[in-house]
Amino acid sequence: MTAISIENLHKRYGEHQAVRNLSFSINEGEVVGFLGPNGAGKSTTMKILTGFIAPSSGQASIRGINVLEHPTEAQKQIGYLPENAPIYSDMRIREYLNYIAKIRGMGRSERSHAIDKIAGQCGIADRLNQPIAELSKGYKQRVGLAQALIHNPPIVILDEPTTGLDPNQIIEIRNLIREIGKTKTVILSTHILSEVQRTCDRVIIIHQGELVADGKVADIIAESKAGLQYRTVFSDDKVSINAVHLQEKLEELQGVIQVQLLPNIAEGQVGFSISSTEDIRRSIFHLSLEQGIALLELSPSQGTLEAVFHHLTEQ
Ligand code: ADP
Ligand code: MG
Repeated sequence: MTAISIENLHKRYGEHQAVRNLSFSINEGEVVGFLGPNGAGKSTTMKILTGFIAPSSGQASIRGINVLEHPTEAQKQIGYLPENAPIYSDMRIREYLNYIAKIRGMGRSERSHAIDKIAGQCGIADRLNQPIAELSKGYKQRVGLAQALIHNPPIVILDEPTTGLDPNQIIEIRNLIREIGKTKTVILSTHILSEVQRTCDRVIIIHQGELVADGKVADIIAESKAGLQYRTVFSDDKVSINAVHLQEKLEELQGVIQVQLLPNIAEGQVGFSISSTEDIRRSIFHLSLEQGIALLELSPSQGTLEAVFHHLTEQ
């Protein structure tokens, strides 16, 4: 069954076109990473999906329910964690979740049962009586997730759930999202590309409001022109290497998209990670001859989502 479907969606804010002709659909059970640079239109799309704002044109539906025509029905199917979750910091966690559950139309005993269950799942069971204002950002985010899940929705929409968290908190939230993804359809926006590779079955990348990639991470990398990646190490046996100069030379090679200096390379050696649209092995060999430096290592590897993302979303 189709969980989420968007067709030819457009959204204008005055003169500014935030989303243009966006279409995709997500099947029940998928965990999808929704990527794009800041301003790409991710939050706008999510707000349209959750019925918070209307599109300028196009359709959005949740489990076949048209969000524009039946917003309340559609919202019952969705748990939503907005970008800046409107958490009421003067409330205690239990009080807040109870309030949200009430808005969701749940009865008293159903609410108390649901709060205990979700608090356990989100790791806040021992803090239910704590005022939200006293919580760390990581715990606030758990409360945000708990409010999104309180009514046990089949579809969960998370707008940058890990932004502002420290690396440990990111791992905790990632594990939680993975757990949620076992039983629900999830779409989450994020900038942490390594997270996406670990958490998501599929990614959708948008740029300036338009779709630029949609598929499994491995397929997107394989199909992308930026899918070639090389690791090189040069040695300065005879001539001392000017790393900046060498990097510039590498960047000039045909097909090269990005050249990054590798850290922790042995003394007297310089290494780079290079992403390219073409096989550059011969060019690198000739460059080393031309520069009079030894080529110690040249190995092709799997391209990275980071390089592909960079390539697809350059201005
Ligand atoms: P993202 O979540 O991918 O960073 P947004 O959906 O928040 O992107 O924004 C997309 C574009 O629309 C941006 O250029 C942003 O400045 C603009 N925008 C977002 N909300 C509004 C608004 N309420 N009024 C005017 N412009 C907006
Ligand atoms: Mg956003």
